[in-house]
This record gives sequence, structure tokens and C-alpha cells, in this order.
Amino acid sequence: MLYFASCSAARINITSSSSSPSAVAFTRTFNKSNKAPSPLKQKRTIQTLSTSTTKTTRASSTSDKMSSSQTTKTIGFLGAGIMAVPMALNLLNNGKHNLIVWNRTASACDPLVKAGATLAKTAQEVCEKADVTYVMVSTPEATLEVANLAKDGISDNKGYVDCSTVDRHTAKKVSDIITSKGGRYLEGPVSGSKAPAENGQLIFLCAGSESLFKEINADDANQLNKMGKASFFLGEEVGAGANMKLIVNSCMGSIMASFAESIALCEDANLSKQDLLDVLSLGAINVPMFGMKGPGMIASDKSTKFAPAFPLKHQQKDMRLAVQLADELGRELPVAATANEMYKRARRDGHDDEDFAAVLHAVRRE
Ligand code: NAP
Repeated sequence: MLYFASCSAARINITSSSSSPSAVAFTRTFNKSNKAPSPLKQKRTIQTLSTSTTKTTRASSTSDKMSSSQTTKTIGFLGAGIMAVPMALNLLNNGKHNLIVWNRTASACDPLVKAGATLAKTAQEVCEKADVTYVMVSTPEATLEVANLAKDGISDNKGYVDCSTVDRHTAKKVSDIITSKGGRYLEGPVSGSKAPAENGQLIFLCAGSESLFKEINADDANQLNKMGKASFFLGEEVGAGANMKLIVNSCMGSIMASFAESIALCEDANLSKQDLLDVLSLGAINVPMFGMKGPGMIASDKSTKFAPAFPLKHQQKDMRLAVQLADELGRELPVAATANEMYKRARRDGHDDEDFAAVLHAVRRE
């Protein structure tokens, strides 16, 4: 294993690499006083290299060296849902970009248009006018539909970054559509929900075109670093991002289902649910999600509608796709598969558009 470290007044780059395919390189950017910023503010880029070469994750392209005033570009955004709107607003407000947007239901773009974005008539028009187009829509079917609507606007070297949570086969199909037109494709599903999207704290799980990743991840690009706090490049093989995202979300969905069961059991045992939250918060199994979702869940009753940050129908889609991935790989996934059944039951009972915390309705005595 080889380690390389270089320090400057403003930045420390540390790269490690080996001949193993899992070699990792990462760049950490510190503030000008050379003090590490708080974990929330710290921008971290992590790249898993598929080759044995030693390299940093920073792009050394000209665009990387340009000042932000020189980097005015037209960025496109397809989709205007819970995640897309705050992500696009961060591109618009924090970068120096022109933003052109499209959504199947045009009125959902109103907040973006009010903030200065241009509304396009078609997805194709967005790709024609934009250097890089981001996509954030609901399902594998939606993302394929959008790619087919957009493809005739793609030409040589244009970037297409699909952040929707889909399966690897869909990601590959979209990649084929875009690259067959000469474009560069990057899958970039995100970990993090509505609030991290609003606060520019998402975690990007990217795979596909490395040149596009480097370009949009450069500090001066004001793109990934404006929408997120960390960006992983997981390799050039499309599907790695989708797989990682599904693995992360099946873990999250299983934890939420278990948490909901614990709240329901607490009710049955006539124990204080606030005590449960307090006990969990003090121990090693505390997770931030308990603190964020727990108070609303313990205060809820059978008539409570959970306002969606992450719609339950999307969580169930992710559980289904994770179980499908495990099936394809010949791996049993008993915990996630059972949790999936709980989300299916919640969907059947009409909780599709509520937050995924509504899985509580599927397990408590109501
Ligand atoms: P959302 O609020 O339900 O928005 C869905 C978007 O997809 C809307 O813009 C919708 O357009 C569009 N859409 C749906 N079907 C379409 C179709 N057939 N053709 C074209 N557009 C279509 O969803 P979201 O919560 O923002 O999630 C978007 C993606 O991010 C999903 O893959 C989700 O799993 C993932 N994700 C969500 C979160 C979260 O916390 N919310 C976190 C991480 C990842 P209309 O307005 O016309 O319906």
C-alpha cells in the first residue's frame, strides 16, 4: 500500500492506493486557517479506484482552476419533487449558474421559476440548453421515461447526472441511452432526505463517467459541493451507485421498521414511549433518525398523517429493489425482506404519500 500526502495553506490531500481493486483515495478540504471544519461543514470526496494507479480525486482540468466568476454554466434539472426542488435551489442560489428546469407537472417548478430558473417546455429542451442536466424523479419507470424524453437534446460531451434511486439495470439502460447520443452519464443517487437537500448536506453515491464526476465535483463547479457534504465515486461501472444506495436504504428501512415495532411494543407494555426515546438516545444504538422521527412517532395515534420528507411508497420501492438485488446475487436478506412486507402493508392501508415513519401504522394495535 502506498500513501501520499501533500499539504498547502488551504488544503490537505491524502491519497492511498494499492494494487487491490478496493484502493481508496480521498481528498479533504480544510478551511483557510487550516483547522478542520465541523463534520457538518466538511466537504469530503471519496473515490474508490478500480485501477492500481495512485491519484487524487481532484480534477486537474482547466475548469477546476477557473475562478467561480468564470464558471457560469447552464445547468438543467428534470423533476420538481420533494428532493429536486431544494437541490435545484441550491444550484441556483449558491452557484453562479443559469438554471433551466422541466417537470412532468409544470406547476411544481413554480418555486424554481420564482427563484430565477427558466421553465423549459420539454425535457429535450433542457438537455439542449444545459451543459449538465440533473435528474431527480421517483421510480425506475419514471427515470427511463424521462431519459427517453430528454435523449434528443443530448449531444457530444454533455453531462447527464441521474440522482433518482433506481436499480442497477435501469441505471445501465439510462446510461446506454445517454452515451449512445455522445453524452456522458453519471449515476448519483443521494443519501439524505428533505432537510439535508435543503441544507446542502446530501451524500452523493456516484458511478459512471469519471471525467464528469471530477468536473461537477470541483470546488469551482459549485454543483455537487453545493448540494452535498460528501461525494463518493464508486467506479466507472454503472450500477455501483444504485447498489450502494439500495444497500444503505434497506439498512435504513429495516432500522425504521424495527424502531416502529419497538414503539408499538412499548405501547402494549404500558411503558412510557418518551422513556424509550431517552434510553435509546443514551446508548450505543442511538441513531440520529430516532431523534428526528421519534418525537412525532410517539406523539402519533391511528389518525395521524405523517408529513412526508421521504414518502413511504419510495421507501418500499427501495426495499423491494434491495430484496431483488439480493435475490439476483443469491443472498438471503431476511430482515430487509420482512421489513419490506411491513411497508407493503402500510401501502395497502393507504399510507403511500406519508413519511416512511408511517410504517408505525402497520405494526401498532389500531
Ligand atoms: P417525489 O416528491 O414523489 O417527486 C417525484 C418526482 O418524479 C416528481 O417530479 C414527479 O413529477 C416525477 N415523476 C414521477 N413519475 C414520473 C413520470 N412517469 N415521468 C416523469 N416524471 C415523473 O419524490 P422525492 O421524494 O423527491 O424522491 C425522488 C427520488 O429521490 C426517488 O427515487 C426517491 O427514492 C429518491 N430519494 C428521496 C429522498 C427523500 O427523502 N424524499 C431521499 C433520497 C432519495 P410530477 O410532479 O409530475 O408528479
